[in-house]
This record gives sequence, structure tokens and C-alpha cells, in this order.
Amino acid sequence: MLNIVLFGPPGAGKGTQSERLIERYGLIHLSTGDIFRYHLKNETELGKLAQTFMDQGHLVPDEVTINMLKDEVLKQSDPKGFIFDGFPRTNPQAHALDTLLKELNTSITVMLGLEVEEEELKARLTNRAISSGRADDADPEIIANRIAVYNRETAPVKEFYAAQDKYMAIDGIGTIDSITERLYSAIDSRK
Ligand code: ADP
Repeated sequence: MLNIVLFGPPGAGKGTQSERLIERYGLIHLSTGDIFRYHLKNETELGKLAQTFMDQGHLVPDEVTINMLKDEVLKQSDPKGFIFDGFPRTNPQAHALDTLLKELNTSITVMLGLEVEEEELKARLTNRAISSGRADDADPEIIANRIAVYNRETAPVKEFYAAQDKYMAIDGIGTIDSITERLYSAIDSRK
């Protein structure tokens, strides 16, 4: 299996690039943000629980997120691999993912980190608010909070994969196509 973690701060372009990678490599795209938004829209219990955290730009608690992700992975029959987008976002999530994949006799192939500086991220998210209608994109204070949460809780997850020699940094500035090409070459060098 080819299992990719697409990593990077809010607004780095993970969703956009995931679309292209799933097509080329035949992978299943699991975006925890998208799954939470699906639950929000359908007003499920999980959606109601997640909403308070998401609206503030906080992380949904690990236990909730991990159980949801596990269900999504185990639902797939004979997958060729996964792109994890927005997960793992904490060290406990990274450990849980390792354990889950081990049970399936597989592991993470590579973590690709899209690197974009903070000013550019803020500009992208503010722009995205116009088309996405996402409450957490519309408010500069909540954007700042998400970036702070990223720096504090999520950025360290990189070290977890770097220690296994699985982290690759990808320059996330440039045209969408040029970034896709960088990701393709990185993946092809690890397959
Ligand atoms: P972003 O564009 O900020 O990266 P996402 O669409 O990935 O946003 O996620 C939106 C929100 O969903 C996050 O701010 C957080 O509240 C929640 N969320 C998504 N993934 C996770 C996760 N792995 N752990 C905890 N909360 C998550």
C-alpha cells in the first residue's frame, strides 16, 4: 500500500493537492476536516460535538478524532492506499495511526510537508472564506488561533516522522501545478 500523510498548516493547500494525488495514485482521501464538516452539515451527534471546537479554531479531542478516523479506514475494502489530510494533528494521533496501520500489516510511506509562511497563509484563508463559506475562515482572530494551535500541537508531529526518516519538505509556494509536480516527484522517489 501507498500511505501518504499530507502535512502543513491551515491554508497550505492540502485539500487542493490531495485531489490530484488521489487521481494519479488511486488512493482514498481521508480529510478529517471534511469528515467533520459532513457531520456538521448532517447534524449528527458527532457533528454537534465537533462544532464547538471547530468554530473556535480548537482541535476536536483526540479520542473522538481517532475513533472517527479508525472507522473510516476500516470501512474500506482492499484499498490501494490512503492520503491522510489533516490527520495526524497531534502526537497521540500519530501513535494511534501507526498502531492502526500495523494491524493492517502496512505503514506510512511518507509524510509530505507543504511549507508556506504565515503571512501567505493568512491571505489565502481570508480569500478562501469568500468561496468556502467556512465560519473558521472568516474571522482573523480564529485564523490566528488555528495557526497558533498548529504551531503548538501539530508542528511537532513532523518530528515523529522525521525520526523514522519519513519526512519530506515540499515548497508550498508557486502555481498549483508546480507544487503538484513537486509532490509527484517526492512520492515517486519513495514508492
Ligand atoms: P484547516 O484548513 O484549518 O487545516 P481542516 O479542514 O483540516 O482545516 O479542519 C477544520 C477543523 O476541524 C480544525 O480546525 C479542527 O477543529 C477540526 N479537525 C480537523 N482535523 C482534526 C484532527 N486531526 N484533530 C482534531 N481536530 C481536527
